[in-house]
Amino acid sequence: MVRLESYVCGRWQEGEAPFRSLVNPSTEEIVAETSARGIDFGPVLDTAKRGGETLRAMTFAERGALLKAMSRALYKAREPLIEIARINGGNTRGDAKFDVDGATATLSYYARLGAQLGDVRWLADGEGEQLIPTSGRFYGRHLRVPRRGVAVHVNAFNFPAWGTFEKVAAALLAGMPVISKPATSTAWLTYEMVRVLVDAEILPEGTVQLVCGSTGDLLDRLGGQDVLAFTGSAVTGAKLRGGAFHVGRSAHVNVEADSLNAAVLGPDVERRSDTWNWFVRSVRLEMTQKAGQKCTAIRRVLVPEPLVEAFVEDLSDELSRVVIGDSRAEGVTMGPLSNADQLQDYREGVALLSTQARKVYGSPTECDAKRTIPGKGYFASPVVLVANDSHAASHVHGREVFGPVTTVLPYDGSVDDAAALIALGEGSLVSSLATDDRRFLAALALEMAPWNGRLLLIDRKVADQATPHGMVLPGLVHGGPGRAGGGEELGGLRGLEPYMQRVALQGNRALLDKLF
Ligand code: NAP
Repeated sequence: MVRLESYVCGRWQEGEAPFRSLVNPSTEEIVAETSARGIDFGPVLDTAKRGGETLRAMTFAERGALLKAMSRALYKAREPLIEIARINGGNTRGDAKFDVDGATATLSYYARLGAQLGDVRWLADGEGEQLIPTSGRFYGRHLRVPRRGVAVHVNAFNFPAWGTFEKVAAALLAGMPVISKPATSTAWLTYEMVRVLVDAEILPEGTVQLVCGSTGDLLDRLGGQDVLAFTGSAVTGAKLRGGAFHVGRSAHVNVEADSLNAAVLGPDVERRSDTWNWFVRSVRLEMTQKAGQKCTAIRRVLVPEPLVEAFVEDLSDELSRVVIGDSRAEGVTMGPLSNADQLQDYREGVALLSTQARKVYGSPTECDAKRTIPGKGYFASPVVLVANDSHAASHVHGREVFGPVTTVLPYDGSVDDAAALIALGEGSLVSSLATDDRRFLAALALEMAPWNGRLLLIDRKVADQATPHGMVLPGLVHGGPGRAGGGEELGGLRGLEPYMQRVALQGNRALLDKLF
């Protein structure tokens, strides 16, 4: 069993008892334990301050080079990292690669951005403008500079690699030091990744620190130059947002939370056409990848009433080929849920949805899994439900069941009906729309846009090329309004914004142009 330490103040520090256990969700064996109890966060923040000074002295190109070195070192350790994701995360090899490769790819993307930005330490923001009608000399423009505090990252359990390093990449490139806290239940992978970077002596002192366990009084110490980027449940997000560091001292807070993402099938789509096949496979993929424990997974599937039966038949056929079991066993295509609490939550969630929808595939209490230890493992069957009344199904629009579960919402095939159902989710990270009817696409996409952070628009011409619905890309924003937390990450240079202060400069145009 591994004891996970925290990497703070330039050294590995073991916490004090009691320790929290991390398990292999396929077997329920304890594989690691951790605690952050006893860490004094005063010196941790002092160390971060030194890291911030180092980063601010570096140009974007130099910070980009740092990210490139990080990406390379992690890529070299890819196989052992994937193995940890399979043991502690219940990930199949494909799931593990999605997470680990997502981390190295995002670091490498931001490394390239840094190289493009070159030998500067701040960002010009938009065009400048003449401020008085009588003279062009007195001028105004905007600049973005790194905030002087620390970026605290609190992450969810489902993406311990990608979730950690997509945030780290943007913060370091912007010039802010990071204190990263992974969710405890799957922290082993993040711990190992930071260990790889520390052992490779890549990280300048104080630029990246890791807290495995609770954050103690760290957040209470944050102030107006600091940033909290949180990913996790809406309940925790709301609690953290209410902290005095935010409400009273205006530390910048970004929240990525629950999301009832949707996929809409257009009424024109013919069964077994390329667009139809993409749609069915996309729903299956989003239900089963990482056992449906993805913030971007499709929870609501809008299908025109006359197509519901055929869709359920084809989706059921796809799901019947999914092999559930120990994530390290040969031939398994879907691993277990991450821990006992998640299994309990999935069962309660399906029971709640079942009060407003009928089950048409799978059962929350029966799961035929390839188990390594009989009776052990947090395995869950995919479950498909069909809403009794799509508009009245409040739980379907409001309760994120974090597992391989989706609900079909029959609709009348009109833009208005689909748009009204999308809005009932009160804000999502991403939704898909599959149709070959351009007018329908144009009209519905604009209706869906205010409720989503990202829209995947599929017609037959891109059906065989498109990246999956759930795949977050570093060049496009990730986040969503309302229930999804109201936050935004990534999106290329946009991802640096939370870590930088925008300042308006007014003065002598020639001087401003020369200096900045
Ligand atoms: P969670 O229970 O809210 O925990 C998230 C993180 O918050 C963990 O690191 C947790 O630490 C920490 N935390 C909890 N209470 C805290 C407190 N009082 N102070 C400081 N930190 C605290 O969520 P989860 O179960 O890990 O993740 C599942 C949820 O995340 C789902 O709802 C999913 O939709 C959402 N999610 C959203 C996105 C997105 O990008 N929008 C991505 C992934 C997941 P401990 O583990 O140590 O308790």
